[in-house]
Amino acid sequence: MNPDLVVVGAGLFGLTVAQQVAERFGRKVLVLDRRHHVGGNAYSEIDPETGIEVHQYGAHLFHTSNERVWDYVNRFTSFTGYQHRVYTSHGGEVYPMPINLGTINQFFRASYSPDEARALIREQAAELGDKEPENFVEKGVSLIGRPLYEAFIAHYTAKQWQTDPEKLSADIISRLPVRFTYDNRYFNDTYEGLPTDGYAAWLERMADHPNIEVRLDTDFFDAGHELSKGTVVGNVPVVYTGPVDRYFDYQAGRLGWRTIDLEEQRLDVGDFQGCPVMNYPDADVPFTRILEFRHFHPEREMATDQTIIHREYSRFAGDGDEPYYPVNTPEDRQQLLTYRDLGRAERGVLFGGRLGTYKYFDMHMAIGAALSMVDNKLAPHFERGEALVSGGVDA
Ligand code: FAD
Ligand code: UDP
Repeated sequence: MNPDLVVVGAGLFGLTVAQQVAERFGRKVLVLDRRHHVGGNAYSEIDPETGIEVHQYGAHLFHTSNERVWDYVNRFTSFTGYQHRVYTSHGGEVYPMPINLGTINQFFRASYSPDEARALIREQAAELGDKEPENFVEKGVSLIGRPLYEAFIAHYTAKQWQTDPEKLSADIISRLPVRFTYDNRYFNDTYEGLPTDGYAAWLERMADHPNIEVRLDTDFFDAGHELSKGTVVGNVPVVYTGPVDRYFDYQAGRLGWRTIDLEEQRLDVGDFQGCPVMNYPDADVPFTRILEFRHFHPEREMATDQTIIHREYSRFAGDGDEPYYPVNTPEDRQQLLTYRDLGRAERGVLFGGRLGTYKYFDMHMAIGAALSMVDNKLAPHFERGEALVSGGVDA
């Protein structure tokens, strides 16, 4: 194939770009990925022995309020009616998460009404005075008060990020809703569900277009093949969705990433924990949460005498580890400014996705950002022949 566009990374960002460029502009797209499959971190496999779908890179729950993204993804898969609910095991007791009236009343051994609970939290958050919360701790205390923060957030976050929470962004804690009702749904979005016949089927359908060719087990930075960085950049337009610091040989330093180790266990019980995700917010437990995959698809036929679980252990990503979560400390943000400038100067290359923009994207955000890149950058290029103008890594 003589491609009109090379997409580095077959995750949701790269697949969306490739699918749109192939379909809307009739252009030939070559997608490469160093892994043996498409789909990036959203990829999953169905365990042949039990029929249980195991998310290979951590649990992935699809949710969005973006109509365009919802319509788009429904072209490639239908979704089950799954609604995510999480529990958390603190001090030998199990509470509902995210923090809601049920959690508050159980924790304080009380039967507060919504207004009473609100008043209590307001009183506890008064320690901040009039100060606008500026970081993770302040935001956490402002939302739920110090006692709940210490019980359910402080140690979990210490394990998850191993970073002084004053250096963590308030956005991270803002991902979790806080509710003064007994509604314990994890997400607030309008649409939610899991792909009916699995993530792999969905993601493979996105790449199934005569104008798209996928090359797996191919690293963009390995010299010696015709799709390497040295061969492609400057000759064919590129959308790059790998780590931005790697692209520029870490010349402004290494951006901080967290990775997770997933310890898989196959157990001879039909049901290990009775729910899909149990969090462990206490300091004396080394992992952050346990996932039990069978609970994601109660509608499916699966073995009833076995179950598969993952214990998640979080740590800093070193060389050779998968970069999963951008830590995004003030030092990281400083380095990112340099990478943005370098990205802007890189002719014919657009940077996108979670790794390429160093952003804590959910799947719907990655897809939405990819659709915007197609509208704003690739459409002018392929439809009107305008030069491909990079917006830097913030594209
Ligand atoms: P990725 O999926 O990371 O894809 C990037 C691809 O680029 C990878 O396949 C990689 O192999 C490839 N690549 C990198 N470097 C190279 C190279 N040099 N050469 C070739 N290929 C390369 N989102 C949700 O909406 N709900 C969730 O519940 C959820 N849970 C998550 C849990 C975890 C543990 C993690 C890590 C993420 C979670 N996400 C979730 C986020 C979701 O995974 C991302 O939004 C989505 O994967 C972003 O897609 P992407 O294409 O930007 O990146
Ligand atoms: N968090 C926590 N306790 C919990 C759940 C979440 O402290 O029981 C914090 C933690 O810092 C985490 C953040 O809230 O990184 C966002 O949680 P989310 O479940 O969205 O994290 P993800 O699914 O992305 O790992």
